[in-house]
Amino acid sequence: MFLTITTTGTPERPATDLGFLLHKHPGKAQSFSTSYGTAHVFYPEADDRRCTAALLLEIDPVALVRRGRGKGRGGAPDAALAQYVNDRPYAASSLLAVALSAVFSSAMRGVCNARPEIAGQPLPLRVEVPVLPARGGPELVGRLFEPLGWAVTAEPVALDAEFPEWGDSRYVRLVLESGALTLAEALRHLYVLLPVLDDAKHYWVSSDEVDKLLRAGEGWLPEHPEQKLITSRYLSRRWSLTRQAMERLELVRLAEADDSEIEDIDNAVRAETETEEKPTPLAVQRREAILDALRESGAARVLDLGCGQGQLVQALLKDTRFTEIVGLDVSMRALTIAGRRLKLDRMGERQAARVRLLQGSLAYTDNRLKGYDAAVLSEVIEHLDLPRLPALEYAVFGAARPRTVLVTTPNVEYNVRWESLPAGHARHGDHRFEWTRDEFRAWATAVAERHGYDVALRPVGPEDPEVGPPTQMAMFVMNTAVSNAVKEAKTA
Ligand code: SAH
Repeated sequence: MFLTITTTGTPERPATDLGFLLHKHPGKAQSFSTSYGTAHVFYPEADDRRCTAALLLEIDPVALVRRGRGKGRGGAPDAALAQYVNDRPYAASSLLAVALSAVFSSAMRGVCNARPEIAGQPLPLRVEVPVLPARGGPELVGRLFEPLGWAVTAEPVALDAEFPEWGDSRYVRLVLESGALTLAEALRHLYVLLPVLDDAKHYWVSSDEVDKLLRAGEGWLPEHPEQKLITSRYLSRRWSLTRQAMERLELVRLAEADDSEIEDIDNAVRAETETEEKPTPLAVQRREAILDALRESGAARVLDLGCGQGQLVQALLKDTRFTEIVGLDVSMRALTIAGRRLKLDRMGERQAARVRLLQGSLAYTDNRLKGYDAAVLSEVIEHLDLPRLPALEYAVFGAARPRTVLVTTPNVEYNVRWESLPAGHARHGDHRFEWTRDEFRAWATAVAERHGYDVALRPVGPEDPEVGPPTQMAMFVMNTAVSNAVKEAKTA
């Protein structure tokens, strides 16, 4: 399996910068062992004008079969000959994609400390894969790569050059050319689309493949016209995963559309009052109230659900009593900003072990969220359409079931006190609803009752005698007696 990436230079930028972008020196051939064999990186040509990096994957067919079987695939040993005698070792496929991500992981993320200014820039790029299995033929290859800004040449490879009457094989020689893409984008396209064209994964597809797909698809997959085919083939046509991915892509699209128009009304209020007496911004008061409640609860392992740009995660990290902190959000963009805020890439090992950011939607149960002491939903519920709220309720109180849950949401009654807020407007363009104190109390009480929690309501921010506080918080604590009784009733 073989793939080359070529770029050309300009007077300001020598082509050999490709070596910096790939984090692989053009003067050296390097080898990396992967689970299926050895990946070699070398440069067949490297001067200022033109530079080509080659990735050659040498597959160990025996390791391939062994590993496959270990994961519950591979069939009966006596029917195994076909597994040794097939095209896997020779054709570009999911194995090449995995090698690509292993060998060029920093480049795929667009990280380049040596040449940060070029990592984010489009480059003239030419990618060649001499033998690519392509189910759907050259026509599908075009439909997949062209919308992304590639000029595509996909020539069918004849079954046997000496006998053209035998027709074409299922392979093509692929050449992609573009001047509009960054190297990181190009690598992410290949990482997803090579296995999609092969349409036969070498490993069992599990639910974390959805995360990998969404990560690699960031910035292009949500808008791709063949999104459905790509998603379904990438996930080996596992219907439930495909549906999950499609729904998450839709949410990412919505969240990113919203993100650009949002900035919390708190910011506007802060800017307005900053010149006067500089009161503590509401967002800060809310964070303090949440931290106090978490400390009171004795929680050590905490989920921040709908963590946004990571301000609370950052505050939690500063207090060592919180030993494990997980931020989850549906918006990749918010998570990217959170990662930058936390300086995840420069964090020491001990600190890094305490924190994780996950992409996911609260409208689905998620096994990754089980087993924590506490969960925070700070200004999140009002971002869901009301009919989706029961799904969030189940995912948090029914499935994840942390001992403590903190929920904050605006008190709509207080809106008349915001000078900058026109009458009848929500505080934030993306709020699907805002509740009165009575409405929030009714919801919180019903949730607590349904799932075996006790709930107490607390004001956050200056409490107005007439309209109450600007933010309302509900603190749920699992009622172990009720919870046990429910469990017994279920098993009886
Ligand atoms: N908790 C943060 C951010 C609140 S803004 C704070 O208090 O400042 C609401 C956040 O919820 C956004 O980042 C949005 O992307 C996220 N969100 C909205 N719907 C979601 C869903 N279904 N699943 C997970 N996160 C969601």
